[in-house]
Amino acid sequence: MSQDKEIRVFQAEAQQVLDLMVHSIYSNKDIFLRELISNASDALDRRRFEAVSKPEWLDAGTELHIFIDVNQDARTLTVRDNGIGMSREEVINLIGTIAKSGTQEYLKRLRQTKDAVLPPELIGQFGVGFYSAFMVADNVTLVTRRAGETAATRWESSGEGTYAVETVDKDEVGTDITLHLKSTDLEDGLHDYADPHTIRRIVKTYSDFVAYPIRMHAEKKEGQEPELDTLNSMKAIWLRPKDEVSQDEYKEFYKHIAHDWNEPIEIIRARIEGTLEYQMLLFVPSKAPFDLFFRDGHRGIHLYVKRVFIMDDCKALLPEYLRFVRGVVDSEDLSLNISREMLQQDRQIQRMRKGITSKILDTLTQVRANDPGKYQKFWEQFGRVLKEGLYQDREHREALLDLLLCASTFADAPLTSLEDYVSRMKSDQDAIYYITGESQSALENSPHIEAFRDKGYEVLLLSDPVDEIWVQSASEYKGKSLKSIGRGAVELGSEDERKAAEETRKETEQSYGALLDALKEALKDHVKDVRLSGRLTTSAACLVTGEGDLSPQLEQILRAANQSVPGTKRILELNPGHPVLPKLRALHEQETDADRLADYAELLYGQALLAEGAIPPNPSRFAKLVADMMVNV
Ligand code: ADP
Repeated sequence: MSQDKEIRVFQAEAQQVLDLMVHSIYSNKDIFLRELISNASDALDRRRFEAVSKPEWLDAGTELHIFIDVNQDARTLTVRDNGIGMSREEVINLIGTIAKSGTQEYLKRLRQTKDAVLPPELIGQFGVGFYSAFMVADNVTLVTRRAGETAATRWESSGEGTYAVETVDKDEVGTDITLHLKSTDLEDGLHDYADPHTIRRIVKTYSDFVAYPIRMHAEKKEGQEPELDTLNSMKAIWLRPKDEVSQDEYKEFYKHIAHDWNEPIEIIRARIEGTLEYQMLLFVPSKAPFDLFFRDGHRGIHLYVKRVFIMDDCKALLPEYLRFVRGVVDSEDLSLNISREMLQQDRQIQRMRKGITSKILDTLTQVRANDPGKYQKFWEQFGRVLKEGLYQDREHREALLDLLLCASTFADAPLTSLEDYVSRMKSDQDAIYYITGESQSALENSPHIEAFRDKGYEVLLLSDPVDEIWVQSASEYKGKSLKSIGRGAVELGSEDERKAAEETRKETEQSYGALLDALKEALKDHVKDVRLSGRLTTSAACLVTGEGDLSPQLEQILRAANQSVPGTKRILELNPGHPVLPKLRALHEQETDADRLADYAELLYGQALLAEGAIPPNPSRFAKLVADMMVNV
């Protein structure tokens, strides 16, 4: 035993995920091998990539490979690679901890659900492929030596609370992972992972395209030295003729590169020819990773140049709003020495990014047209991300607006496209109406919608924070303007109807002029104007944003992003047909009880806030005013 052996405790989150993994019953345990091989393949990629700048890390004679060794008598299985390896610190940080931000909250939520079983479709999200070894092993040993270091590290654990780490010797750079296989799996009728035939089959099924040879000893023949067999074809899947690659092969390739346990919802394969030549094999995942909205979330696609792997997380090839797309791009024209730092500026990369973006958006457009059910599933996972493109990418805005799905007041479909909305527009309707706010239910019941409902005009209900942002920059769709119903003055109907309504309202406004002034004075700390409304039919009051002002939701978003915002006051609109108005006018004309009028002003303002799901500025005072009023009735 070496001097520096330590027994350490798994980080709490890591242990939880590990427990969930070990105690969940997966019908398909075979995938543990896919996970170990994917990790080995990544480690080999990294060694090759880093050796470009540090040639001493990879001798010319070293062949990068993966070796699998099974010992049927001892019931062990070893996966060995001569990839980048890990330092002691890396072993502790990468294997004993889950560093992803958000894991803790995620697990907490999971524990609140009744059956604290980690569903397989979620397990891939943690980046815990290595732990899947514990599905089939009751003890796992990892011996690893980092390129550029002389000492190696041995890690061992039975997956129950603690692990041991110590410094050891290892001749070669790379990682050996040895699984001591559970015997219960055999009793349960599962595959015997100490059987070379099983291993051969699993490698062929899940890892055939891995770019490095995966070797194993061939069966020993009487009197002969054991020979080495290569189990995989190593053929890059995007180079094989389209009709020769099965859907299953694509799916396994996706799981390998994306470290996802689910199947992709869409596969995009294309070859671009012309002045710039490249191929893409891209995948749209079926589930959003839980770090989709974290800044340090994993993203990017694999970049190859003339079949040579360059890097695995090339962010420059995709716009931010397509960050969920995974896959491979292989260029014929880029230089093999292209550096990470140069990528953002490289003109060829920029042109490829445009081509890739268009191809992805085209594909999504087709899915929407041909398979609405599938598109809706996609939208539920990634719609919020795609919407970011509406303000980030002017060039594709039209295409992105076409892809948009929104909740609306149209009862027959949960989500509508703008195209369908337009097809339902009334003949006298001149704009696409929307309302933004915090929750769909608050929006649905919002007083702002009343007059639109009466007229039979559909209203889009936009309750994602990102909606606040894109609506600022998208002013029309196919010649129809997009209009917020919570902003500016509203007059509905045909031109004649609108004129007539405006006329009447002006007259009414005159007769209420003194009252409106008094209310405005009473509420001057909260609103910038009090006026009569064209959008209310049943509610007494609502708040609207002035033309050109920041909406309260947008202000909130900006404040959350640490920007200083002026604090815009809104406009209180009152329903001219509501019986409360003449009452208030009478009260005001009596001029005996100015305080009471101020109280009523506050009640109107408070209820307008409540109706949109907000809280009056002084809730306890508001409650008291309501109670007082009940006593005085
Ligand atoms: P991930 O989904 O990130 O691969 P894993 O739990 O499988 O999650 O592995 C965690 C990390 O440990 C990997 O991201 C990698 O940095 C490191 N790792 C795992 N296996 C190897 C290996 N064979 N060689 C080098 N590093 C490895």
